[in-house]
Amino acid sequence: MRERISRTKIASLAISACALAGASAAPALAQDAASSDAAQVAPPANEAHISGGGISAPGKPVAERVVCKTGCLGRRKATPGAVVKIKGLSLDYASQMVFRGTAGPMPVSLTYRDSVRVRAIVPPGALSSRPYVIDEQGERSNRTKRKLTISAALPPAGPGVFPIQGTHTYGGPDSRFGAARNGHTHQGQDVAAACGTPLVSVMNATVQYAGYQASGAGYYVVLDNNGTEDDFVYMHLAGPALVHTVNAPVAAGQQVGVVGQTGDAEGCHLHFEFWQGDWYGGGHPIDPLPSLLAWDPTA
Ligand SMILES: [Zn+2]
Repeated sequence: MRERISRTKIASLAISACALAGASAAPALAQDAASSDAAQVAPPANEAHISGGGISAPGKPVAERVVCKTGCLGRRKATPGAVVKIKGLSLDYASQMVFRGTAGPMPVSLTYRDSVRVRAIVPPGALSSRPYVIDEQGERSNRTKRKLTISAALPPAGPGVFPIQGTHTYGGPDSRFGAARNGHTHQGQDVAAACGTPLVSVMNATVQYAGYQASGAGYYVVLDNNGTEDDFVYMHLAGPALVHTVNAPVAAGQQVGVVGQTGDAEGCHLHFEFWQGDWYGGGHPIDPLPSLLAWDPTA
């Protein structure tokens, strides 16, 4: 039933809660380290101990799993610009992650490293492959067991109106679709703007749902695009959505509310989701950033 929000929907909504748009990458790195299991931070089993001085040097780096962290189309499906993580062993001295390119290997510097995981950004032109790491002495690891699929970012939705009618910023990696959140993945793009900035409908649509959720979305509204099954979700509005009657028509560019920070939000921002298919009704969220950039007159 699209007209009513079920308990399941309310529970699911909590996972959309987002942190402050524009948070720097540093807290994300700290979070990553803090969330690791004790077992993961134990010394690598194959660490070579040099006797005498108590100095230890890691063995050959070992790559195990590769997962896409942000800018992802799936767990092992990345786009250029995505942050990917390789988990493994003896990564203490890893310095580069190597992708396959049309003209040969494409090494890139790491954006994070500890003994059991490294992160790097997929460079433009990288092809689907099983990446590996190289350490500071040029020693290379095996390739990851499973392949990382790399494909061009999804094309944006059709013509639309940028949802924020005012100055805004997209923030850093932590604002992105797919960014790690406490126990879940960020399902939208956070765009920071002053509280009170008007929010408008991106397309001709009908109201699918408008409500309030203290623990997550705050005041939010779900718009169902006319003519497709796409849904657009606006969260953390300052107050109740201006359009709230289910099935009421909303024109592209019509105001639906104003930017706020209600619910689980730190700082004034719009949390924007783009669903292909029905919102919690068989559809799934996709990265809205390509569409937002296409609609943004200032981008
Ligand atoms: Zn968010």
